[in-house]
Amino acid sequence: MEYEEYDVVVVGAGGAGMTAALAAGRKGLATVVVEKSSYFGGNTARSGGGVWIPGNYALRAAGQVDADDADRAKAYLDAIVGDDVPKVRRDTYLDRGPEVMEFIRDNTRVRFTWVPDYADYLPERPGGRAAGRSVEPVPMDARFLGEELAHLHPPYTKAPANLIVTQADFRKISLGIRTIKGPLTMAKVMLKRLLAMATGKRMYAMGNAIAIGLRQGLVDAGVPVRYDTELKELLVEDGRVVGVIVEHASSGSATVRREIRARRGVILGSGGFEHNQELRDKLLPRPTSTEWSTGAPSNTGGGLLAGTAVGAATDLLEDAWWGPTIRLPGRAWFFLAERNLPGSIIVNAAGRRYMNEALPYVEATHAMYDGEATGISHVPSYMIFDQTYRNRYLFAGIAGRQPFPGRWYKDGVITRAPSLTDLAERLGLPSAELSATVERFNGFARSGVDEDFHRGESAYDKYYSDPTVKPNCSLAPIERGPFYAVKIVPGDLGTKGGLVTDERARVLREDGTVIEGLYAAGNVSSAVMGHTYPGPGGTIGPALVFGYLAAEDIATSTGSASVGGRA
Ligand SMILES: Cc1cc2nc3c(=O)[nH]c(=O)nc-3n(C[C@H](O)[C@H](O)[C@H](O)COP(=O)(O)OP(=O)(O)OC[C@H]3O[C@@H](n4cnc5c(N)ncnc54)[C@H](O)[C@@H]3O)c2cc1C
Repeated sequence: MEYEEYDVVVVGAGGAGMTAALAAGRKGLATVVVEKSSYFGGNTARSGGGVWIPGNYALRAAGQVDADDADRAKAYLDAIVGDDVPKVRRDTYLDRGPEVMEFIRDNTRVRFTWVPDYADYLPERPGGRAAGRSVEPVPMDARFLGEELAHLHPPYTKAPANLIVTQADFRKISLGIRTIKGPLTMAKVMLKRLLAMATGKRMYAMGNAIAIGLRQGLVDAGVPVRYDTELKELLVEDGRVVGVIVEHASSGSATVRREIRARRGVILGSGGFEHNQELRDKLLPRPTSTEWSTGAPSNTGGGLLAGTAVGAATDLLEDAWWGPTIRLPGRAWFFLAERNLPGSIIVNAAGRRYMNEALPYVEATHAMYDGEATGISHVPSYMIFDQTYRNRYLFAGIAGRQPFPGRWYKDGVITRAPSLTDLAERLGLPSAELSATVERFNGFARSGVDEDFHRGESAYDKYYSDPTVKPNCSLAPIERGPFYAVKIVPGDLGTKGGLVTDERARVLREDGTVIEGLYAAGNVSSAVMGHTYPGPGGTIGPALVFGYLAAEDIATSTGSASVGGRA
């Protein structure tokens, strides 16, 4: 078998993998990235690009780091993650995160900025922050990446007319014309698009910008990325991981199996197993489907399987970065603003509400599966709203008043009926129960107090709400037909269970000992956030930080750097 040798082999060209490779390259280690797909960026490129790293330079620049923020951030993770994850790992994340953000700033063209008021997801818990700690990339002109840009992972969803929208823009646009900020933001976005077209700029935002910046960082650091090259096995000698076996598939020729040896270490950054139905069926609560995931199709758990084959321990495998999702024809749509905006509820097969619909998405989906476990069907659930809601807000990319595509009705994604009774009949829901649920909810909307689930009380509920709606910006009555029901399934942004690692990103065995030479970061590793999600950016943040720490550990613990790869 052909073989090559480097200091470090990184598996996966997503957020974790590219940060690890960049850090290793910059620390003078001969490094290569092997990437299964023909693209760089993985889920990270498809994402909103939010990063939750308290105390980072962009938050400091925006005056969003309180004097006691470091302690408060620790108290927050203590409270919401708790013993599911060792404290030393959580604290290391917070202690080292700001430095990693500076490393990325200094070695790439990605620049982050605060997302105003995007609250922590559980801001009322100890140490939570209502004004948020999330940052997103400043949109960038990516012409510098040249032809390599063709390898950027395809988007999760394409914005109409290639408009470049930031997270902060999206919040305002989702409100349609309810406030002047919506049309003004739309005008700004369109103007910027016209300017970019006139000047030949190739603008990218959100997760694309992170991926593009990291990819250029690798070019600058001289770290190659091998596309269409899939990790199959880890090579172990004398109990130490010393390389990988990969399969390289080039179009028109046979698959080549190859050994790539790693003198200093292998870093897995190969994402989760969201697109592996067999693993989903085995590990995740049911029902579950790859079709409900918005994650990158190439994330099929290869790193997880290779890691467990050499004795790695695993954790959190039953959990994911969940979110209530609509299965649109041909693609999954991850609900963000739609659930929180006033004038809608979510009900189970009994026609009853079962949660605060504006809950953060991981918690909302836990509620869905917990409900399913009671024996009453919660999968699918139905989001119910009326024509007033439809006229007001952006919904799954469709502007208010604009008709939904006919195919959505045909495929049963959306059902519409003149009355709630008709709607219930078409869905097979108990109509008296549904009407009673809506009537009770409408009472809460009028009083401003959701006595059942406290919707609109958390600062997070308010982020994607409608400030013009009173007395509770998250509650409005559902009363004007026709009425709509949208089928909701428990989807995800990727899985969060994986190989157990320590605070240096070293992979551990069941007995807590270190598998020498093996590191993992991002969704191939078990999440530092445990069963929850601290705030917008709580998955990419750890991918970047532990990717960096893995490279640092290799550079500092196993002798001096050597020069050049050997092909
Ligand atoms: C629509 C959407 C929006 C999101 N928004 C946010 C957000 O704003 N903030 C946030 O924190 N999180 C967000 N997420 C989640 C976040 O994107 C992921 O959790 C994170 O990017 C995972 O990073 P990673 O490096 O672990 O994996 P990825 O970025 O997915 O990278 C994994 C890479 O490994 C490759 N790979 C897989 N198997 C192999 C193999 N066997 N051999 C070689 N290569 C392999 C894959 O092809 C992929 O390129 C979002 C996700 C989606 C889908």
